[in-house]
Amino acid sequence: MTAPVMAADFSELKLEGVTRNFGKSAALTDLSLTVKRGEFVALLGPSGGGKSTALNCLAGLLPLSAGTISLDDRRVDHLAPEQRGFGMVFQNYALFPHLTVRGNVAFGLQMRRISKPEIERQVTAALALVQLSAHADKHPGQLSGGQQQRVAIARAVVVEPPIVLMDEPLSNLDAKLRHEMRGEMRRLHQELGLTTIYVTHDQEEALSLADRLVVLSEGRVQQIGTPEEIYLRPVNSFVADFVGYRNLLPMTIDGVDPTTGQLTMSGAGVQLRADPRVNGPLTGPVTVAMRPDDLVVGQIDGNQIDATVESVEYQGRDFEMQVRTQADIRLFLRTTQRLSIGEPVAIGIGPDRLVVYPADAASTVGASAQPLREREAV
Ligand code: ADP
Ligand code: MG
Repeated sequence: MTAPVMAADFSELKLEGVTRNFGKSAALTDLSLTVKRGEFVALLGPSGGGKSTALNCLAGLLPLSAGTISLDDRRVDHLAPEQRGFGMVFQNYALFPHLTVRGNVAFGLQMRRISKPEIERQVTAALALVQLSAHADKHPGQLSGGQQQRVAIARAVVVEPPIVLMDEPLSNLDAKLRHEMRGEMRRLHQELGLTTIYVTHDQEEALSLADRLVVLSEGRVQQIGTPEEIYLRPVNSFVADFVGYRNLLPMTIDGVDPTTGQLTMSGAGVQLRADPRVNGPLTGPVTVAMRPDDLVVGQIDGNQIDATVESVEYQGRDFEMQVRTQADIRLFLRTTQRLSIGEPVAIGIGPDRLVVYPADAASTVGASAQPLREREAV
C-alpha cells in the first residue's frame, strides 16, 4: 500500500511540553510523552480532562500553544493533518450517508493517486479485516452502530497509517458491543502493526487494551504507567479514585514496625499496617486507599476497622455493602456474606492491599483525601 507522507517510517513519536489554551483556560498543560512504534497508549481521564485536546493537537486539528511534536528528529507540529499521515477514528463515525460501505472506505484512497484495481484490492482487504465483507454494498443507514464504527475503523486503517488516533471510538455503542469491539481494537492493532493512541474515559477499557496509560485530569498528566502500575500503585488519590479505589481514609504515619518493616498508621478512629511498597519514606499525613474488592468481613493480620452496616445491595454473585466507621466514614465493600442493616461488623484488609501516599499529593490534583461522605456531596 502507499506510504503516508510523514509517519511512514519512525521509531518514536515524541511530545514535549505540549500545551493548548483556549483563551485564558488551559485545556492541556505540558504533556510530555514518548510513544514507541507498535505501542498502544491510552489517554484516560474524566470528561474535560484534556484527552480530545491532546489527540486533536496530535492530529493537527488544533495548533499548539506551546511545546513540540516530533517523529524521531522531525518536527511535525507545524504540518497540516494530511501531511502527518495519521489515521483517525472519532466517537461519531462521520460516515458519508450517500456512499456505500465500500465507497466510504475507498474515499481516503481516491484522494491519493492509486489505480482503481489497487483501491479495490485494498478496500476488500480492509473490509475483511473488520469483518464487513458481506455488507460492502450497503449504506451506513442500513448498518448497526457497531458496524458503522467498524466502517470508520476500516476507513482509517485502509491507508495503512503507522499511527492511528482514536477518540472514544466505542463510547456510542451499547455495553455488550463495546466489550466485543474492545477485543477487535486490540486485534487490529496487532495484525496491522499499528501504533495506537486511544482516548477513553473508561478505565476498564484502558486497562484491558493499552500497553501504557496516560491518566489526565484538568489538562495535566497525573500518572503514566503500565496497566499494572496504574492499577496497583496509583500515585495520588485522583488516580486511585479513578481506577476504583473508592475508599480513601485520611491517616497519619506512626512509624515503621522494626520486625516486619510494615508502615503503621492511625487516624479516622482506626489503626492499620501496610506493606512497604511506597516510593520513598513516608511520614506525617497520608491518604490510604482501598478497593471495595479488597475489604473483607473479619480482621486480617491485625488490620481491623470497626463499623456498622449501612446498606446491602444484592448484586447476583455477591453483595455490595456500605458500612459506616466509628469515625463516621463510609466504606464500600463486596462480600458474599448476608449481613443486616445496623449490625456491627469488623472489616479487614490485607497489609499488601493498602495504597498509601502523602496527603499533599492529593491536594495538587483537584481530588482530595476527604472522607467519602464529603466527596460524595460535591
Ligand atoms: P476530554 O476530551 O478529556 O473530555 P477536552 O480536551 O475536550 O476534554 O476538553 C478539555 C478542556 O478544554 C475542557 O475544559 C473544555 O471545556 C475545554 N475546551 C475544549 N475544546 C474547547 C474549545 N474549542 N473552546 C474552548 N474550550 C475548549
Ligand atoms: Mg473528549
